[in-house]
Amino acid sequence: MRCDHCEKGKLIAKTGLYHYTESGLPNLYLENVKWLQCKHCHAREVEIPRIGMLHRCIAWLIITKPSLLTGQEIVFLRKMLGKSQKEFAELLGLSQVVLNRWETGARKGHGSANDTKIRFLCLTLQDDEYTHRINQKIWELLFKFFGRIQKSPSPLHASINPQTCTPEEVSSVTIEHLLATQTKAPGINRHTG
Ligand SMILES: [Zn+2]
Repeated sequence: MRCDHCEKGKLIAKTGLYHYTESGLPNLYLENVKWLQCKHCHAREVEIPRIGMLHRCIAWLIITKPSLLTGQEIVFLRKMLGKSQKEFAELLGLSQVVLNRWETGARKGHGSANDTKIRFLCLTLQDDEYTHRINQKIWELLFKFFGRIQKSPSPLHASINPQTCTPEEVSSVTIEHLLATQTKAPGINRHTG
């Protein structure tokens, strides 16, 4: 098979750890993925299984990250919720210009109060079976956890298996785990961030 991109190279089938740059996040890897890669221009064609579930897992990993969100992570969360920059800025009570600065990292960060606001907004808007399981006890644990977030942004560094990952972490057990600084869920390995 020829590459559609350069029309020169041959496509080679690959399998293994896939650097998921399409997510817009710099240190995110997918385990056990199959893709085709051009020998000439290195363009890749990938089909990612269970992408909706995967993105919810990534969102959950970002929301429960122990350091301030990066601009790229704010973009990921906003897109995950299907909001435009204008709509998201309105929900946060900001001008689009300010949100754009946070997302592009053009200015110094958004601060911890706004960071918490973004995380809660995402949990509130992400209306699914997992967020429905957040009860009062879990909200309290989340509040405590967000109050301890490190003041400097450090990007999420994780590898996820899209075949097996679930946003199961939204349970009191895993949140308590989170407070003990470690999260481990099926198919998800958080390295740092
Ligand atoms: Zn090519």
